[in-house]
Amino acid sequence: TEQYDLIIVGGGPIGLACAIEAQKKNLRYLIIEKGAIVNSIFNYPLYMTFFSTAERLEIGDIPFNCLAPKPGRQEALEYYRNIHRYFKFSIHLFEKVTQVKKLENLLFKITTNKSSYEAKNVVIAIGFYDLPILMNIKGEELPKVRHYYKEAHEYAFRNILVVGANNSSVDAALECWRKGANVTMVIRKNEINNRVKYWVKPDIENRIAEGSITAYFESNISEIREKEVEIETPNGKITIENDFVLALTGYKPDLTFLEKMGIQLSDDELKTPMYNPETMETNIKGLFLAGVVCGGMQTHKWFIENSRIHANMIVDYITYE
Ligand code: FAD
Repeated sequence: TEQYDLIIVGGGPIGLACAIEAQKKNLRYLIIEKGAIVNSIFNYPLYMTFFSTAERLEIGDIPFNCLAPKPGRQEALEYYRNIHRYFKFSIHLFEKVTQVKKLENLLFKITTNKSSYEAKNVVIAIGFYDLPILMNIKGEELPKVRHYYKEAHEYAFRNILVVGANNSSVDAALECWRKGANVTMVIRKNEINNRVKYWVKPDIENRIAEGSITAYFESNISEIREKEVEIETPNGKITIENDFVLALTGYKPDLTFLEKMGIQLSDDELKTPMYNPETMETNIKGLFLAGVVCGGMQTHKWFIENSRIHANMIVDYITYE
């Protein structure tokens, strides 16, 4: 088995930031990524715009060229691909880590769907975009129900229901409405989420106020059928015609995977993984967390600009010892 100083699980922006630091310190490291490089960004909606400005998405002090203040998905893919062209990472793409286990000799054994490796230290930077939070209602398994939104075209001239009032839901509702979809929103609370990008919020509020997009506040979707959906509203249950449901109800990190490695999670509903905030080391010596995964169910706590620093903290700590 090949032996490393550091194995990084996940080739997202923060996994790459860890690799840059490891490379600077001449560590023998490897990134293992189950999909393409920056696979989460690859799976974003095609025409999304980041809420961060370009320089806040930078890693390794490499400038992010961008014409508008905020880049879109395409430019971010371009940027992170160039990062790899520049640093020439040691990385295995399309290889999934299935187990991380500490051996008697204190090394970690990292098992993937293709091979296995040994490492003195492991960083888990797996993000949160792989597991949608399900509504657990009847009909959710129908193929017309989508937990990821890519682009508007197939929804044009159709009755679509968008569940939720966060950035993903609002962006999808507006884009689909502009491309000719008949859009209804079902929103649990009595308002649009305050985290919605400040320049987008008035747009959705005005479309709802003028009646272009119908919104049911303080409501929940209760059943999905082939041609209609049932919604529980404050004025009782209603049934509307429906062709597609965009259930953009959020995503969560693979907490079971963390627990299987022995990482402790908080007992409350936040399921915050246990780690030392100064070193990012978990309750298991040599096993670290980096990036958005650190928040547990609080997936908005960490993002690129405030978590790229995890890379320096971890690599400084393991090279100082
Ligand atoms: P990710 O980018 O999610 O990377 C994790 C990687 O780990 C993935 O590539 C995944 O394939 C891989 N992986 C997972 N499990 C395994 C496994 N078992 N084996 C191998 N590989 C695995 N953040 C911002 O800072 N600014 C923004 O403007 C912004 N906009 C966003 C817009 C959308 C639509 C979404 C969904 C998120 C947005 N975010 C934004 C949050 C953003 O996703 C994260 O900040 C960023 O991707 C976090 O990087 P990360 O490396 O921690 O995780």
